Amino acid sequence: MASRKVGSDQEHGSGVVDDRPAKRARVEALDSEEEDNSAPQVAPQASDLYLDTINRAKLDFDFEKVCSVSLSNINIYGCLVCGKYFQGRGRSSYAYAHSIHEDHHVFINLESTKVYVLPDGYLVNDPSLEDIAYVLSPKFTKAYVQQLSSKSTPLKTSYDLTQNSYLPGFIGLNNIKKNDHMNVIIHALLHVPPLRDYLLLGSFKGKETELVKRFAALAKKLWNPRLFKSQVSPHEFLQEVGRESARNFTLEKQGDPAEFLGWLLNTLHRHMGGTRKKNSSIIFSTFQGHLRQEQQQIVVRPDTDTDAKPQFDIDREVKTTATPFLFLAVDLPPPPLFQDAVEKNIIPQVSIYSILAKFDGVTAQGNAGILKRYKCQQLPPYIILNFKRFTKNIFVEEKNPTIVNFPLRGLDFREYLDAPPNHPPTAYDLIANVTHESTAGTTRDKENTVYKVHLRASGTDDDWYQIQDLIVEKTRKEMIFLGETVLQVWERRDVTSKEEMDVDR
Ligand SMILES: [Zn+2]
Repeated sequence: MASRKVGSDQEHGSGVVDDRPAKRARVEALDSEEEDNSAPQVAPQASDLYLDTINRAKLDFDFEKVCSVSLSNINIYGCLVCGKYFQGRGRSSYAYAHSIHEDHHVFINLESTKVYVLPDGYLVNDPSLEDIAYVLSPKFTKAYVQQLSSKSTPLKTSYDLTQNSYLPGFIGLNNIKKNDHMNVIIHALLHVPPLRDYLLLGSFKGKETELVKRFAALAKKLWNPRLFKSQVSPHEFLQEVGRESARNFTLEKQGDPAEFLGWLLNTLHRHMGGTRKKNSSIIFSTFQGHLRQEQQQIVVRPDTDTDAKPQFDIDREVKTTATPFLFLAVDLPPPPLFQDAVEKNIIPQVSIYSILAKFDGVTAQGNAGILKRYKCQQLPPYIILNFKRFTKNIFVEEKNPTIVNFPLRGLDFREYLDAPPNHPPTAYDLIANVTHESTAGTTRDKENTVYKVHLRASGTDDDWYQIQDLIVEKTRKEMIFLGETVLQVWERRDVTSKEEMDVDR
């Protein structure tokens, strides 16, 4: 491989190329307390001394950046020979000890991406290490990011170290324990262009919270066109999710993708400095819409037919509230309770339009003595729909197996909107679809249950990928309709066409 330099003929360790600067560097390493502020010698001859020992196949930088010995997260170096993390590089440090005990000599500072040879303490400046720094900390140009949304330019295939081809963005995420319900949300959100572009183009090296930094870092890895391995582990991000959510969402516990999504959107919004105001964060400007809710107390009159659906009484007061939303929860019709032998194998189906009738401002729903009806007042550029498939009671969680029929393009929300003048178009195209699979009779708590996500690739009209943790497959459109959808992301028509114009200009 062209980027790998073969080291000098001299033996590693004892036969140092030039004794004098090496000694100077050692002294410096000894004295330096604040290692990263020191400016170690660059040893010109030593720059390629150990570079042939670097093993790129062992590197992925996906795991939480803590010392494998001290568990500290301060001043961590990655050994480029074995991939392990160690704290510090001074004489009493764990990285220094590792260099002597294991005879591993090349270390990268995980924060600054600077590479050092230990125990000598040389700073190595070598262009052949640039690919490693890029995997650790990918950087994107505006032109590159704009191309990701372009309809005229298909996404470019990349190749990893072992020459496996992959499409950046459409790569597997490790299911470390039981985090498939979080993986599908990560994929769905990181395919929403405004949010994706914001995360890819920002540097996130400043005062941002750890959650925001790690989410951005994950976005950059997922879309990295120069990965060593064509898969990414969300470990570092999910560790922070566990801490930030007080262990509500952990990779050890199967959970509900929609609950995780709700938590993540609200937390990211807050961490990005968002307030209650419209467009006060990229989360709000991308996903926030407004809904009008009308409600009325249900009064049961003795003379009325108790089987009749409760209706709004025009003579009584209707309480109206305006509610912002980040996603719309929709209900599936209850499946038939009893099926005869003939119908047994027929899976109940419903059109997405009849589900969305919840928001037509007319259809009323009664619950706990309150009658409610809804209508959208403002639709966001991206609409997230959550299909409520699970119902809990004290004893058991039940899954509604109803299949939802929907178009892939041109879902029109006009009927569910009191469109103010100058409201943007109301036609939306599907960009992400999350499904749940389990064998009959089981629910998501059981072992044999899995979440998958379908993602549309830009560049063409028809390319869809199905991702289930590490399994990435190009899929036929027809397959998307067969799953039990739990969550969808819809993109407003004008959003992409506008970006398209920006790219062409
Ligand atoms: Zn090592």
